[in-house]
Amino acid sequence: MSKRHIPVQKRAPIKRLIAVGLAVTLSFMAICAFVILGMADRDYADVKKSSENLVATLAANIGRNFEVLDLSLQAVADAIKLPEFERIDPVIRNMILFDRSATAQDVGSIMVLDRDGNVVAESRTLTPRKANYAEREYFKYHQSNADTGAYISRPWVTKPGLHVIGISRRLTDSHGDFSGVVVAVLKISYFHNLLKDIRISDNDSITVGRSDGTVVLRMPFDIKSIGSSISNGRIFTELKKSQQGTFETFSVSDGVKRLVAYQKVGKWPVNVGIGRSVDDIYAPWRVEALSLGLIVLALCTFNLAMVGFLAYSLQRRAAVERDLAVMATTDSLTGLCNRRRFDEVLDTEWRRAKRSGDSLALLMIDIDHFKKYNDQYGHHTGDAVLVSIARCIAATTRRAGDLAARFGGEEFAVLLSGTSVQDAFEQAERIRAAVMALPLWKGGPDTNPTVSIGAATALPRLGSVLGDLVKASDAALYEAKAAGRNRSVLAPVAAGEAARLAA
Ligand code: GH3
Ligand code: MG
Ligand code: MG
Repeated sequence: MSKRHIPVQKRAPIKRLIAVGLAVTLSFMAICAFVILGMADRDYADVKKSSENLVATLAANIGRNFEVLDLSLQAVADAIKLPEFERIDPVIRNMILFDRSATAQDVGSIMVLDRDGNVVAESRTLTPRKANYAEREYFKYHQSNADTGAYISRPWVTKPGLHVIGISRRLTDSHGDFSGVVVAVLKISYFHNLLKDIRISDNDSITVGRSDGTVVLRMPFDIKSIGSSISNGRIFTELKKSQQGTFETFSVSDGVKRLVAYQKVGKWPVNVGIGRSVDDIYAPWRVEALSLGLIVLALCTFNLAMVGFLAYSLQRRAAVERDLAVMATTDSLTGLCNRRRFDEVLDTEWRRAKRSGDSLALLMIDIDHFKKYNDQYGHHTGDAVLVSIARCIAATTRRAGDLAARFGGEEFAVLLSGTSVQDAFEQAERIRAAVMALPLWKGGPDTNPTVSIGAATALPRLGSVLGDLVKASDAALYEAKAAGRNRSVLAPVAAGEAARLAA
């Protein structure tokens, strides 16, 4: 059977199904990846915002307390300038100098030091301690700086385990010259009480520090960190650019990568920084992403499996349909086209030839004395001979567009497109010769049956009728039989067609 005449089952729908299945799965995966990554961004943004809010609240709290203490210091500085101040009774004097803020929980005491560093007044007692603090960092600062603003000192230890910082102001006499210092001692426990209830993980940190990089307090609490220097930390570069902000950095103290939110405490040379471990920020997201990712993966795998199963089923169905189509058009004994298929193709080719102007040739082939052969050697041997002759016909009819068929019983038909009269006859003779050359059937008779062939040609465009072509080849076959069999006979060609068909 020529390729042109085999009904081909299209595979495009299966490919389309696989393409659509893949596209849907990939789109679904892309959307899920987008959502999962979005969740990470959301978590990060949430932590960033909460850190910024917390750092702002802490800075405001610290700033307000510094402010309150500084107001007390300013009151002392103003009162001490009064000329009659020396003559006032010490009890009244202390009441004028020190307001109630001096008794606040984490305030050690407020002291007035004279120009030599001697304690001359103290908020907690009417008899100030006999001490000289001329060597204290804040005293030296005010002694050598005309700046009258408040000064925040580095932490120092007053007694074992008690760390403090000083908030101090310069005192001046009526000529504006240095006359001493007023200092409020603030316990580090103030910062500790402020920060200790904030829930942070071991990898997070909160730091209150001076703008020169001295740590006032760092949480998680480590007493050794008080007074240490982190002046090479990135926060100090950032503070030069902006008083508040966020950045990511590897900590100088423990190497952990953190998202840091920082803020300067108002006008004070103090800052607060909260560092949240980046690893910890993404920890809950990682758990969510993993479970969601696994669900998505399972769904996608299921989807792909369904698409694969559907494609496989469609492919199998197409193969079955193809087999059925072949079976429906094939003669089961010889493997040639059957009569039904032959009639279809003859009709199609006739119309095609009519359009193109090509000629069409038909060979009718009949086995000679086959009834006798069957009777003599059995139906089984007859079948084997039928198969051999069919193969022989198929082997000699190999041109694209030609078609060999079992026409019925021991009769075959060969359709030849675009074939001249002469070529049709030569093809008939080739088939007859090939049948004669068939090897003898094992255990069969000494001779093989021969075939008689009637050949006819037509030019559908010139008005020939399809039925006439079949009749003409039948008549030529009859003639071949009548003339003694084992021969080919060419049907007479109409005068108008002769010249064209000979070409
Ligand atoms: P002729 O030369 O005139 O064609 O003689 P013939 O005997 O071939 O013609 P006839 O029409 O009298 O007999 C055809 C025989 O073909 C009859 C039947 O036994 C045989 N035949 C038809 N189909 C089959 C088949 O499928 N298998 C076998 N073994 N024989 C078949
Ligand atoms: Mg017959
Ligand atoms: Mg016959």
